[in-house]
Amino acid sequence: MAEYEMVIGLEVHLQLKTQTKLFCGCPAAFGGEPNSHTCPVCLGLPGVLPVFNEQVFEWGMRVALAFNCEIAPRMKFDRKQYFYPDLPKGYQISQFDQPLAQKGYLDIVDAKGNPKRIRIHRMHIEEDAGKLMHDNHATSSLVDLNRAGVPLIEMVSEADMRDAHEAYQYLTGLKSAIQYLDVSTCNMEEGSLRCDTNVSIRPVGQEAFGNKVEIKNLNSFRSVKLALEYERQRQIGMADQGIRIPQETRLWDEKKQVTESMRSKEEASDYRYFPEPDLVPFTVDAAVVESVRKNLPELPAQKAERFQKEYELSAYDADVLTQQKNIAEFFEQAIAAYAKPKPIANWLMGDVSAYLNAQGLTIESVNFKPEWLGQLVELIDKGTISGKIAKDVLNKMLEQGQSPAKIVEQEGLQQIGDADSLAAVAAEVIEAHPKVVDEFRAGKESSLMFLVGQGMRKTKGRANPKQLTDALKQKLG
Ligand SMILES: [Zn+2]
Repeated sequence: MAEYEMVIGLEVHLQLKTQTKLFCGCPAAFGGEPNSHTCPVCLGLPGVLPVFNEQVFEWGMRVALAFNCEIAPRMKFDRKQYFYPDLPKGYQISQFDQPLAQKGYLDIVDAKGNPKRIRIHRMHIEEDAGKLMHDNHATSSLVDLNRAGVPLIEMVSEADMRDAHEAYQYLTGLKSAIQYLDVSTCNMEEGSLRCDTNVSIRPVGQEAFGNKVEIKNLNSFRSVKLALEYERQRQIGMADQGIRIPQETRLWDEKKQVTESMRSKEEASDYRYFPEPDLVPFTVDAAVVESVRKNLPELPAQKAERFQKEYELSAYDADVLTQQKNIAEFFEQAIAAYAKPKPIANWLMGDVSAYLNAQGLTIESVNFKPEWLGQLVELIDKGTISGKIAKDVLNKMLEQGQSPAKIVEQEGLQQIGDADSLAAVAAEVIEAHPKVVDEFRAGKESSLMFLVGQGMRKTKGRANPKQLTDALKQKLG
């Protein structure tokens, strides 16, 4: 049987978090009483005229330039005609033949750990549709037009991805950079970041693409991954039996973990695009593009590179720390308080992340100051607390919102490092375990570990383990 590879392209719809909608002054915010964020323009009443939101133009360029796209020299809008109850005008204002930007890319790491460039075919501006609600009423569906006219950037990748891993990497990379740009909430549950997938298979070595299947209703990056893995099996199964794979749109069923046929795919020409007569095309000044480019923030990939150089972190650590902007900033503030990047990175990626994940919290939602993490590492370095005690101190810091010094003082957690106290602990342990002491003296090395353990227990983990071991050795020797 032939060996197959997947060919995957992704279409991402990104809602911009502008104050107002794309062509009217209604609030673009998520939620609100149904149909309260509406006006004659976004309700599509006769005789109204759209007015282009300049913020969308600037933010759209920001997104496009962050992914190395070329901005179109001329901005033009088109009508995409289709009928649906959540689209009162009967058409959507979008961009057809002259999109905002083209020819960008995002670099990812493939499943083998090698760098791979995923090309971005185009990005364009369009308005969102409203929302149909099918579950609120027994016999009819309701429509909420609050979302109608909210600005979207649609990002269409080239079909450069070859497996679910690459699709996942592309999406996380995209989201991470967009969060740095601060132009969208990127909240998949609220629909501000949505992803449709095009997938086909072909025998390895064949140039021509197979029939494309579009998958919709993907509500998380995890679903994208699962749906792609499912489609791979399904399509290869069909091909192996000699069944032709129909070009169609399928829906991902999260509960059953399968894709199901929804409709055969319509062609672009079905939409009868034509230039939007109510919005005048305009030329884009190169100087404006340059000023947006100049004001781009440091993006995750650049930051990761700097972290490796400046803080001597591994590529892996630098990647993890820079994926989320707030974590990267937290890290840099922590090392400003105490310049030990590696241990601070370890605490942040290890115990701090584990605590936040377990509690379903984010770094901003807890009262935890970056300098406290620096101070914690400093307390360990100075020998004030042991690494083991530090774990408890950290959890208390996160729970109580207090500095490490304060918690150590309150709970009396200072490490016992003075020779007299440790000698006393050693003496007590030796007296309490004469049998083990005999065994040790008879040559059983591991007995010493047992005695150290007893001493640690006696001091509730506060004894300096190395010094306690020395004290015991001295008394036993
Ligand atoms: Zn409106």
